[in-house]
Amino acid sequence: MATEALVNKIIPFSSVDGPGNRTAIFLQGCNFDCLYCHNPETINLCISCGACVKVCPVQALSWVDKPEDMSRVHHSDGDWQAKNRLHQGYVAYDVEKCVLCDACIKTCPHGSSPRIRHMTAEQVMEAVRRQIPYIRGITVSGGECTRQRDFLAELFSLARKEGLDCLLDSNGTLDFSQDPELMEVTDGVMLDIKAFGAQDHRMITGRDNTRVLAQARYLAGIGKLPEVRTVIVPGLFNGEETVRRTAQMLEPYLEIAPIRYKLIKYRPMGVRRQYALYQTPDDAYMGKLKEMVIALGFDAVIA
Ligand code: SF4
Ligand code: SF4
Repeated sequence: MATEALVNKIIPFSSVDGPGNRTAIFLQGCNFDCLYCHNPETINLCISCGACVKVCPVQALSWVDKPEDMSRVHHSDGDWQAKNRLHQGYVAYDVEKCVLCDACIKTCPHGSSPRIRHMTAEQVMEAVRRQIPYIRGITVSGGECTRQRDFLAELFSLARKEGLDCLLDSNGTLDFSQDPELMEVTDGVMLDIKAFGAQDHRMITGRDNTRVLAQARYLAGIGKLPEVRTVIVPGLFNGEETVRRTAQMLEPYLEIAPIRYKLIKYRPMGVRRQYALYQTPDDAYMGKLKEMVIALGFDAVIA
């Protein structure tokens, strides 16, 4: 039985989601609730309340009373399926009509988005195949894409048959060491280290980071950690400590395979209004962090 994923968007050509030119696929739903999330509408799953339908100026959204037989597909995220069944209906999205005005997202009382397509791995591959002569691989991001793990494994198996390399972008809450089937078809994981200190991590994301740090070590140990990322948010947490301790933890693994450290400036764009109060770090501070990571043994640092 094919697994359907909740696909938020597909970017045919991306040069910022891993090495080379890639098609990037963004899935809906995340188990973290980061204060500075730049796409907060990708966190929650739609609960089919219908409130967004009437605000769409071009009728790209429509209410479907009786869903098709939901048993025909298996959704990776059982939570979504249960909620959708409860409402006995759902909002259908017509990507061709949508003018990306964001009125639906601004209206949603649940902090979600109706601009979701339910797609099987084969359907996503159909969208990827058009770019094959021009791309090196695919990257699946989110939300947290490992929430839809079965879909990921199916998609990566198909993509590798086409000669594409397969990266995923994760917050590190799936225990990759216990999933050899997924790791077999995954060329690398780009991992977010939100904060090294447990207290800071809990404050930013609402979740513990013991598993995240263990995943960083596991992936680095098998040479499948091409990139770690930290968003630098002055005033929210101690970014310097996080970057230093992460670099120190991973330095011994650099001889196995290169790891790039990407330092990302916090910017308030897209952030929920109540959290858009932090300062964007200046170039001098980002440069100082970059120099520190280089001094700790990393060759590839982006800031
Ligand atoms: S973003 Fe698209 S779906 Fe949402 S209200 Fe605007 S046109 Fe409609
Ligand atoms: S996207 Fe939001 S407003 Fe629209 S149906 Fe889903 S929960 Fe309701």
